[in-house]
Amino acid sequence: MHSLWEIKLEKYDNSQNRKYETIFTLANGYRGLRGVQDFSKKGECGNFIAGVFDKNDAQVTEIVNCQNPLVFNIYFDNEPVDIDSCEVLEFERSLNMKEGILYSKYLLKLQSGRIVRIETERFVSRNNVHRWAAKYKITPVNFASKMFIENIIDGTVTNSSLDPFLKTKHFEVEEILDLQPGIALKSITIDNKIQIIEASTLFSENNSENIFTRRKFGRFGEVAREIYESFVKEGKEYIIIKYGVTYTSRDTKEEITNIAKDELFKFIKEGYEFEKDKHIKYWDNLWNKIDIQIKGDDAAQRGLRFNLFQLSSSAYDGDDRISIAAKALHGEGYKGHVFWDTEIFMLPFFIYTNPKVARALLMYRYNTLDGARKNAALNGYKGAQFPWESADDGLEVTPKWGFDYDGNPIRIWTGEEEFHINADIAFAIWEYYRATKDKEFMNNYGIEIILDTAKFWNSRLEYNKEKNRYEINKVIGPDEFHEHVNNNVYTNYFARWNMIKALQIVEMLRSENPVLFNKLCNKLGLSNADFEEWKKKIELIYIPMAKDGKLIEQFEGYFGLLDIPITEYDENGMPKWPDLKGHKLHDTQLIKQPDVVMLMLLLGDEFDLESKKINYEYYEKRTMHKSSLSPSMYSIMGLVVGDTHNSYKYFMKTVYTDLEDNQGNAALGLHAASTGGSWQSAVFGFGGLSIDHDEVLNFNPWIPENWEEFSYKINWRGSIIKVTVKKDKIEILSDRDNEVKVYGKNYILKENELLEVPRN
Ligand code: BGC
Ligand code: BGC
Repeated sequence: MHSLWEIKLEKYDNSQNRKYETIFTLANGYRGLRGVQDFSKKGECGNFIAGVFDKNDAQVTEIVNCQNPLVFNIYFDNEPVDIDSCEVLEFERSLNMKEGILYSKYLLKLQSGRIVRIETERFVSRNNVHRWAAKYKITPVNFASKMFIENIIDGTVTNSSLDPFLKTKHFEVEEILDLQPGIALKSITIDNKIQIIEASTLFSENNSENIFTRRKFGRFGEVAREIYESFVKEGKEYIIIKYGVTYTSRDTKEEITNIAKDELFKFIKEGYEFEKDKHIKYWDNLWNKIDIQIKGDDAAQRGLRFNLFQLSSSAYDGDDRISIAAKALHGEGYKGHVFWDTEIFMLPFFIYTNPKVARALLMYRYNTLDGARKNAALNGYKGAQFPWESADDGLEVTPKWGFDYDGNPIRIWTGEEEFHINADIAFAIWEYYRATKDKEFMNNYGIEIILDTAKFWNSRLEYNKEKNRYEINKVIGPDEFHEHVNNNVYTNYFARWNMIKALQIVEMLRSENPVLFNKLCNKLGLSNADFEEWKKKIELIYIPMAKDGKLIEQFEGYFGLLDIPITEYDENGMPKWPDLKGHKLHDTQLIKQPDVVMLMLLLGDEFDLESKKINYEYYEKRTMHKSSLSPSMYSIMGLVVGDTHNSYKYFMKTVYTDLEDNQGNAALGLHAASTGGSWQSAVFGFGGLSIDHDEVLNFNPWIPENWEEFSYKINWRGSIIKVTVKKDKIEILSDRDNEVKVYGKNYILKENELLEVPRN
């Protein structure tokens, strides 16, 4: 039995290397290092530094796979330790999520018959984001020999390395340095000329005795290498530490070579254990804020922690020009682009556990506003149009071509049609504000985005003279199976929401802060005439509804499409493709992921329970869950409407997206939205947290039979509230309460004391 803090792999199968590189990625918000298998060449290395994007000859701008500093090779005499060609007698890799450390243990029998025991540790420091390190304990079990250790920084790395046609190199090697001891490789990206330096050195630590007898430095094209020689005795353990330091010219105005060198020497001086200790303390502190405890369901507990761990690893508050990519810092999938995944799926986790990080993520949108304004202008609209896929400057970077499920090339329309991202961002800003009351952010940045996206929507609305209504045509809603549709409810409803919110803010500012009001009006070229226009148009925005007024039509004409129901489910209870009888997917009512249901979740206040039930029942049966964004949302809505059985199923599906690879593409990177969805499903779903009328915290939990106890913490306007759900009661504890207003549906909670509340 392994601990509830560990993800373990106990069998070696190199066909799984790429998947585990994603699962065992170590990241700290600044950068991510894929969990490359020690002593193997089978897989795909990944060294991603947030914000380092480049286009060069790639289809679109993408995250750069930087030079790889991880390489560490061992040879006994001349025989390499290569896990793929020797006999693996013992094998274990385990990610200790409590500490943020990747451990491994191997017992390997080399082709010559030499048996070697190797134990490793690796961490990417959260205490100092520029540092990472690895430790190797090497024991020759049945032999004595010369040992050579090769420390390498590999500058031959390309993006899409496994595809001979798509391979792209995004940097040139500028300099290879011999640090005597230690090596460094400095590169520069092709387009934006961002410099990146990786520096590293080895240190042997055996009762402070240096085992290395000789060192040789080499420079081979784009590779920096140093080789250490020593003599090892049978049965003795040798410890070698690899120290690594990373800087880019995004981090500082100074020359980065000297900074990296100084930092490396400082790191060595302070020592591995010192940094490791601080790193573990950092995680300790973090877990204290983010952990969710599930007693009685180990699989759920361990799986959920994996999601919290990797999501926390993907962001930090040290840089407000970066956000979290759809695959986080864990892989090249989706080219390192940022989608609505961040604002709608991941952000709530940060808002309620680590608001400073949430703010930094929203600042990324503010800092890319110029690009968004350019998108709008290019497309003939006003205000700011955020890109469906975003990289470093806010310009649209969605590729125009890709491949469908069968591998055939297809035109991709999302970059031209998936407009809802604009309202999603405005919504996220409001969600952040209502939970933090961060006026400074709102006044300086948030309001500007809400106004400028409203201005965009106003210009995007199309007047239908015949019907005297405003429409938004030729769009893609959250369900991407249907392209070029008219009046997608999610889009229209949220466009209206965005404009209404902007007007509410205008009214508030006018009286509370006329100086800022005038300043923003001047900056954005807005006047009362515009606000009057918005008011009029809002009244006439078309929201397609079914005749009974409860079942919503996803978009105009949806109910007229072929209704081919899902009838078969796989062993995990997930839908199998029904026979489309030669019809195209977009001619059917099958959907990829929630659309109407998504709207009802996000704007829960605006729909009654009966509407939620009716729409959940209708759309759930038609959802293929061909996106990892899907199950978590159905899990939450399932709990709202009382479909508890499916809720648990969808929750576990979400939690195990990457661990079980249930979308089949974990190799490409983390399903970051799904990690956020896991948190939401736990807290908003089972934990029953909702925010009523923007002001009141409402707890209405439900937990599965086998959960003995379930608890989580949230930060609400600076107060930490701990919620513990037990079989027969819930307990709510707040650390400091005068500001907190907490009500329950069937009970009222008093402040600043532990409360026991009967559940009905
Ligand atoms: C996704 C789109 C995305 C496109 C290109 C598709 O698989 O569903 O949202 O824009 O790939 O990256
Ligand atoms: C989903 C989108 C999502 C994108 C990136 C697509 O498959 O349909 O909603 O934004 O993946 O994760």
